[in-house]
Amino acid sequence: MNCYLCERELPQLPSWRGLFLNDIQEVICGRCKNGFMKISGTVCPICGLPNEGLCRDCRYWETTEYAGLLQSGTSLYYYNEAMKDFLHQYKFLQDIVLSEVFARQLRDELGKTKAAIVPIPMHPDKLEERTFSQIDCMLEAAGLRYSQYLTKSEQVQGKKTKKERMSAPDLFHWNGKNVPRKILLVDDLYTTGTTLRHAAKELKKAGAEEISFLALIRS
Ligand SMILES: [Zn+2]
Ligand SMILES: [Zn+2]
Repeated sequence: MNCYLCERELPQLPSWRGLFLNDIQEVICGRCKNGFMKISGTVCPICGLPNEGLCRDCRYWETTEYAGLLQSGTSLYYYNEAMKDFLHQYKFLQDIVLSEVFARQLRDELGKTKAAIVPIPMHPDKLEERTFSQIDCMLEAAGLRYSQYLTKSEQVQGKKTKKERMSAPDLFHWNGKNVPRKILLVDDLYTTGTTLRHAAKELKKAGAEEISFLALIRS
């Protein structure tokens, strides 16, 4: 098998590992893997940005109507060149096999959660354009079960300024399904935190009590 990103040949894993340890096979080579930088050290307790205490954006959010909606969050990787290339290939060139690249990491992070895993949904128009939902496919590749309680109503992220994005109108609507008490939202890229806070607001209104999130990337 070859690396999904650079085509270099991958070393063969002994097959018993996959059979007995329920292991997820690596689909990228060591060199490509090392291109992605994991976030470590002291981070903002809400968004996972490397920071001492609350970061500037989260401090701002905590002064708005969105205060306290997100209990905590984890962001796994920096938005570096390797990650930009990956997202471009995955989202825009619609390379669905790349859903498997972070399967192991996602399973390690989310496999034991007691909360209901809720991927941030795409707008139906966007879904049509992109042909598949990146986050749903990543969760599936990781063997994780998820549920959906939201529909996306607006598309406002686009090219607007940071300030405009942070004060966007409601982005999501509750789909009417019974919402569990504990929710873990999953998104690919955390930029201003607007998307996750809008989703959290709608879920809280619908009955969720504790909302945390996991973002693959913190930009
Ligand atoms: Zn590679
Ligand atoms: Zn923060």
